[in-house]
Amino acid sequence: MAKIYFDQDGDLSVLKGKVVSVLGYGNQGTAQAHNLRDSGVKVIVGNVRDSSYEHAVADGFDCFEVSEAVKRADYHLLLVPDEIMPRMFELDVLPNLKNGQAIVLASGYNITYGFLKYPEYIDVLMIAPRMIGTGVRKGYLEGSGFPSLVGVHQNYTGEAQKVLLAISKAIGTLKGGAVESNCDEETLCDLFNEHFGYVYALRRAYEILVESGASPEAAMLEFWASGEEMELARVHMTYGLFHQLKLHSQTSQYGQEVTSRLTPEEEENERKRLRRLIANIKDGTFAKDWALEQQAGFPVWNRVHMENMSHPMIAEEERLLRLLGVLERDTEEN
Ligand code: NDP
Repeated sequence: MAKIYFDQDGDLSVLKGKVVSVLGYGNQGTAQAHNLRDSGVKVIVGNVRDSSYEHAVADGFDCFEVSEAVKRADYHLLLVPDEIMPRMFELDVLPNLKNGQAIVLASGYNITYGFLKYPEYIDVLMIAPRMIGTGVRKGYLEGSGFPSLVGVHQNYTGEAQKVLLAISKAIGTLKGGAVESNCDEETLCDLFNEHFGYVYALRRAYEILVESGASPEAAMLEFWASGEEMELARVHMTYGLFHQLKLHSQTSQYGQEVTSRLTPEEEENERKRLRRLIANIKDGTFAKDWALEQQAGFPVWNRVHMENMSHPMIAEEERLLRLLGVLERDTEEN
C-alpha cells in the first residue's frame, strides 16, 4: 500500500521566513498561489509580461519576470505548460537558482523523459494534483482539499521531505490526502488515463445509437449531456466502483455486471490495446512523437482536430447545449 499523507504530516513553520515563487499563473498557478497566500506563506508570481501577468497583479500578487521571481524566492513552483518548461528552466530559472533551494513540479513528465536538466545542488520535488486548477482552489476554500501524488525526486539538502509536506499542506492537498509516489509513476498513470480513449468511446456510443434510430439528442443525453456523469463520478468516488451499483435498478445492475462484460477474446484484444499504450509511454515512443509533433508545428493534431470538429455530432451538440442553457464555451473563450 502506498503511504498517504494528511494535514498532521505537514509543518507550515518549515516555510517561515521563506519566499515561494509561483512560476506561471495559469490553471494551477492561479489556484496554488491563492492557496499558499491564504495559508500565510509569502508568495510571489513569475510570468511572461502578458495578460496572465496583469491578472496576477490585479489579484494582489507581487509579480515579476520569471528570472527576477527566481532571484527573490527560495522555493519555486514550476507551473508553466510542460512543453515550454525545459526551455524556461534553462534560460530563466537555472541561472538564478541558489544552492539548497527547491523546485516543485506538478507533473513528472519532464523528469521521466529527461527533458529538465536540473543541477545536483537543489531539491527536486513533485506535488501533482489529481484535480484541475478550479478544483484545487474550490477544495481549499471548502476545506475538503484535493488529492495529489507527491514525492521527493532529489534530496540534496536532506530536508526535502519536510519541505514537500509543508508546501503540500500550504496548497491544501494534505486535507484531501497526498499519496507517496514518484515522477515515473505519475507520468505513467497520467498519460495512460489521457490515452485510454474516453471521448472516442463516448462518441462511438453516440454514433451507434444514432445509426440504430435514436435521435442525436437522446443519444447525447444518455451518455454525457444530461450531467448524470457528474453524479456517477461522485458515487464512484464515495461508494466504490462496484458498490455503487446498488444505487441502480436491478435491470441496470444485471446489464452492467453481466451483459456488458467482454467475451474472453474481446477482453484479450482490449488488454493488448491497453498494454500497447503502456509500452509507448514506458519506452518513450509517445514522448518522442509528441516532441516531433511540436517541432513540426502540430500537423497531425491540427488535422485530427479539424476532422473531429467537422463531425456532424458537433453541430447537434452545440444546438442541444444551447437549448438546455448549459453551454459554457462562449464565456470561457471571451
Ligand atoms: P497553463 O497552461 O494553465 O498555464 C501556464 C502559465 O504559464 C500561464 O500563466 C502562461 O501565461 C504561463 N506561460 C506560458 N509561457 C510562458 C513562458 N514562456 N514563460 C513564463 N510563463 C509562461 O498550465 P497548467 O496550469 O495547466 O499546467 C501547469 C503544470 O501543472 C504542468 O506541469 C501541468 O502538467 C500540471 N498540471 C496541470 C493540471 C491542470 O489541471 N491543468 C492538473 C495537474 C497538473 P500565458 O497564458 O499568459 O501565456
